[in-house]
Amino acid sequence: MPLAAEKIITRNWGRPDSWTLDAYKGTGGYATLEKVLGMQPAQIIDEVKKSNLRGRGGAGFPTGMKWSFVPKDSPKPKYLAVNADESEPGTFKDRYILENDPHMLLEGIAIASFGLGVHTAYVYVRGEFRFQAERLQKAIDEAYRAGIFGKKLLGRDFALDCYVVRGAGAYICGEETGMLESLEGKKGWPRLKPPFPAVVGLFGCPTVVNNVETLAAVPAILQKGADWFAKLGPDKSGGTRMVCLSGSVNRPGVFKVMLSTTVRELIESPDFGQGMPPGRKVKAVIPGGSSAPVMTADELDVALEFEALKQIQNMAGSGGVIVMDDATCLVRSLWRVSRFYAEESCGQCTPCREGTPWMTRVLRKLEEGRGEEGDIETLLNVAQSIAPYPPMGLGQTICALGDAAALPVHSFVVKFRQEFEDHIRLGKCPFGDKPWGHYGAMTA
Ligand code: SF4
Repeated sequence: MPLAAEKIITRNWGRPDSWTLDAYKGTGGYATLEKVLGMQPAQIIDEVKKSNLRGRGGAGFPTGMKWSFVPKDSPKPKYLAVNADESEPGTFKDRYILENDPHMLLEGIAIASFGLGVHTAYVYVRGEFRFQAERLQKAIDEAYRAGIFGKKLLGRDFALDCYVVRGAGAYICGEETGMLESLEGKKGWPRLKPPFPAVVGLFGCPTVVNNVETLAAVPAILQKGADWFAKLGPDKSGGTRMVCLSGSVNRPGVFKVMLSTTVRELIESPDFGQGMPPGRKVKAVIPGGSSAPVMTADELDVALEFEALKQIQNMAGSGGVIVMDDATCLVRSLWRVSRFYAEESCGQCTPCREGTPWMTRVLRKLEEGRGEEGDIETLLNVAQSIAPYPPMGLGQTICALGDAAALPVHSFVVKFRQEFEDHIRLGKCPFGDKPWGHYGAMTA
C-alpha cells in the first residue's frame, strides 16, 4: 500500500521556477493571507491551536500554545524570529523549503505576524546556506515589490518588515535563545529559561521563535481549516511531517510522511527508503537527529510521531533519521557524534564544557584499541553527570546541548554494550579498516 502523504509543503516542488512569486501565486499563493486579513488576530491563533501543529524544529512544542503565551497588552514591540539555522546532524529539510518554495514560508510569516501583532520578522539562516539565503532574499524583495511586506500588508493598515540574518556556522545558534543573542549582535550563548522568549525575547521584547517547516505549514492550515490538519495526525499531533532519511538505505532523501508512518516503513517502503543495500541489515537507527537516543533493530515499529517516540524514551526531534547497518562500528559512530557536540559546546556550563571532550577522548581511546577496563563506566558516569538517565533527567544544563551530547552516549552504550566491550577485549576495532575508509578519517 502506498504510504506517501498528501503534499502540503512540497506541493509546488519540481515546478519550473517554483521559488518565484509568479509560480507561487499561480497555485493560489497568498490567497490565504488575503483571507486571514479579514479575520480577528485571536481567531488565527485559535485556528493554529486547534490544528495541533507542533514545532518541527526539535522540541515539538504546540505552536498555537506558544503563540498564545505572547502578552497581548505589552507596550513593547513584538518580534517573530524564524529559525532557519538547520544544523542538527542528519537534518536537511528546511534548506529545501528555502530553495524550492520560500514564498510559502513568507506567507506563513505574514499570517503569523498579523495574528501576533508583529511588525518585524527576522529569518536567521544557517551561515553555510549561502544559496538558500540569497534565494530567500530574492523572494523577500519580490514580496516587498508586490506590497506584501512594507508599510501596508496587502494594502491594509499593518506594517510588516522581514529581514534575513545569516549565521556564522555555530550549531548553538540554532538553540532559540542562542539565536536571539546572535540576532542582537552578541556571541550566541544560550540564556537561562525562564523567562521564555515569548515574554522576554529579542531585545527584551516578546518574541515568537518558530522553525521554517512549522511556519510553512501555517498557510495550508488557515486555507483548509484546523480540523482538516488535525485529522491528518493522531490526537496530539496534527498534519504530516518531513523526515530526512540518510545512512544505509537504497534511497536517502527528504520525504513527506504521515505521522503514523513507522521507522521500519520509512526504511523499507518503495515510497521512501526502498530498503537496505544488498546483504545489509539494520543494526541501529537514530530517529530524530543526532541528539536523539539510538534505537535497536527491534524497536523499528514505532511511529515517527512525538508521543509515540516519547513513550519509548526517545524523541521525534528534527526529523533526521539516520540508519546504520551491520557493517557500521557504533563506537566509531558515537565518537563522531560526541566530537561534534564537544566542538559545538559554547562552554558556559561546566558539565557540558568539560564532559563533552572527556567523552570524546574515551571513545577515541576505545576505537583506537587502547581501551581499558573501567572506560565504559567512565563514559557512562560522565554522561550521567551531564544528563541523568534513565529516566531522562534532562534540563540540568542551560540549554539542551548537554542533553543532546549525553543521550546518545547513554543509549549507544546501554543498548550495544557488547560492541564497546569487544573493542577493549580485542584491543582493536572489530570492524577493521572498513568504517575508516567508508566514513573518512577522524583525527580528534
Ligand atoms: Fe553552552 Fe553546553 Fe551549557 Fe548549552 S549546555 S549553554 S552548549 S555549555
